[in-house]
Amino acid sequence: MRTVVAWVINLFFPRRCCLCGKVIEWRQTMCDRCRLDAPYVFPPICDLCGRGEDVCSCRKRHRHFERCVSPFYYDGLGESGIGQLKNAADSVVADGFAAEMAEVMRREYGGIRFDYVMSVPQFVKDEHAKGYNPAALLARAVSRHTGIPYGEALRKLFHTTPQKELRAVARSGNLLGAFTVVKPHVIDDATVLLVDDTVTTGSTLDECAKMLKIYGAREVYAVTAACSIYKDNKGEDV
Ligand SMILES: [Zn+2]
Ligand SMILES: [Zn+2]
Repeated sequence: MRTVVAWVINLFFPRRCCLCGKVIEWRQTMCDRCRLDAPYVFPPICDLCGRGEDVCSCRKRHRHFERCVSPFYYDGLGESGIGQLKNAADSVVADGFAAEMAEVMRREYGGIRFDYVMSVPQFVKDEHAKGYNPAALLARAVSRHTGIPYGEALRKLFHTTPQKELRAVARSGNLLGAFTVVKPHVIDDATVLLVDDTVTTGSTLDECAKMLKIYGAREVYAVTAACSIYKDNKGEDV
């Protein structure tokens, strides 16, 4: 019955490839070309930052989250797919990414019992200006694919300059105090899955995980649709 419903829905809202936007079969999440050419993060991966061991430069730097994993690198088709997700409130694209994120989670996070999946929040005025938060679209879709209950508990208190626009020295202080927990009862002693569209420096996930733990979360794991490979001139992941 669910299959028939999905087929009928697809007649009116055609499924599109999450990376290039091409209309695809309703059972697929990506077109055949992207399936072949996607910038997948292949194992073995770093057990902290989730990049391939061949490109990881995190040096196992301590973070407040236990691990982060991503299906794609933020490069080529991965970058254009994230662009699609960010430029339109597109739950079809979010669903395609979520299917790939759930697949990586099955491989890397199998055996972990998550209590809640939630997104990295945007400042309310930024979200209203855009009309939606891409990370929240992804978190809801990941919830559908994994069965982990969706429940937001974080809030962003003010607008911050995107991390990639800042020099390394300004990055660590930029997010300080930007996030708070608004529903502490949700995260008390909970194992939380935190979702964002991309991870670059890891500072945003780190600041969110820090606040979740201050308010009682037991463990915080992260999953993002894409991760960028970013090195400063000292070769450090920043
Ligand atoms: Zn495609
Ligand atoms: Zn690493």
